[in-house]
Amino acid sequence: MSSSKNLGTKYIHAGAHPDPSTGAIMTPIYQTSTFVQASPGVHKGYEYARSQNPTRFALEEAFAVIENAQFGLAFSSGVAATDAVMRLLVPGDEVVAAHDMYGGTYRLFSKVYEKMGIVFNYVDTANAENVAKAITPKTKLIWIETPTNPLMNITDIEAVSNIGKKNNCIVCVDNTFASPYLQNPLDQGASIVMHSATKYLGGHSDVIQGALMMNDESLRDQLYFIQKSTGAVPGPQDCFLVLRGIKTLHVRMQRHCENGIKVAHYLRQHPKVGKVFWCGFEDHHNHDIAKKQMRGFGGMISFTLKDDTVEAATKVLSSTKIFSLAESLGGVESLINHPASMTHASIPRDRRIANGLSDGLIRLSVGIEDAEDIIEDLAQAIG
Ligand SMILES: *Cc1c(COP(=O)(O)O)cnc(C)c1O
Repeated sequence: MSSSKNLGTKYIHAGAHPDPSTGAIMTPIYQTSTFVQASPGVHKGYEYARSQNPTRFALEEAFAVIENAQFGLAFSSGVAATDAVMRLLVPGDEVVAAHDMYGGTYRLFSKVYEKMGIVFNYVDTANAENVAKAITPKTKLIWIETPTNPLMNITDIEAVSNIGKKNNCIVCVDNTFASPYLQNPLDQGASIVMHSATKYLGGHSDVIQGALMMNDESLRDQLYFIQKSTGAVPGPQDCFLVLRGIKTLHVRMQRHCENGIKVAHYLRQHPKVGKVFWCGFEDHHNHDIAKKQMRGFGGMISFTLKDDTVEAATKVLSSTKIFSLAESLGGVESLINHPASMTHASIPRDRRIANGLSDGLIRLSVGIEDAEDIIEDLAQAIG
């Protein structure tokens, strides 16, 4: 595993410059729609806030820094960031995508872009060979998520990036689950990293936002053009909140990882628990790849009960006291979720089941409360 040494200093100072007009150490919230020009075309680099906003620019610089990227772009949601990547394509282009991924990404692909003439090939990317086999001369984009939501499958980013390079395809990695603290896909050769900043980057369940990071200048220019032309930009207050969130990413992630280890092992030995999905187990099918590309295993864990039914799962889902039953993840507080009826309800049932997402699956976003309280809560809920 690569070291997490010095990430804290990087996160605290990413994008932070004293405000030039006052010296304010924190980037002000530039709550303005437009900027006054001295004479037509004579301005300070800011014309209209959809195209340029100083708070957003500070955040976009921070986004680049935390993913070891040249460029960062902020969007009004994670899905808007994914949508911007899709707008690089034209009808007839093909996409090879992971068969197990965030339900909203699948919905965007299957319900919005399929009817616009984009062709999707869904494969099990846990085996990179499957990606290579699905590529045709029309493939322009490979979309992977690792670890996946909610089954914690791991894809070898370096292997898929090499396949992408060989075939002239853009490789985009949804890095939401790992966060930049645990994994940096551009370092493994990916072309674009996507984040739902709503999750670990914001970290406090108080903002919806998305991010793209990349090194290639022409990709950046195309995506910046799409960002300003389609207008899915975050407001300055939301940018401020994510800038603040990033400053504690390392401290939060350390605790998410510590608590995640304890919860995963607790669940595994519980007599009523069936399968536990967590890439930190040595017998996880791609544990070696996880160890190679990640610095830790995070706080996302899914599990089934031995009685893998909606009824038994519902009993657990409605009896926790510290875990709140809610969609989303990556905040300081623990959340519990039922993918089949909540986050992944937009995936048809037969498809879900075929991919291994059972009706009784329970997903945990382990927060940064005290581990003993988290485990005690699970103990009383599972019974
Ligand atoms: C939440 C999420 C998204 C979508 O992001 P929004 O900010 O909700 O639009 C995409 N991918 C993953 C893995 C997510 O968890």
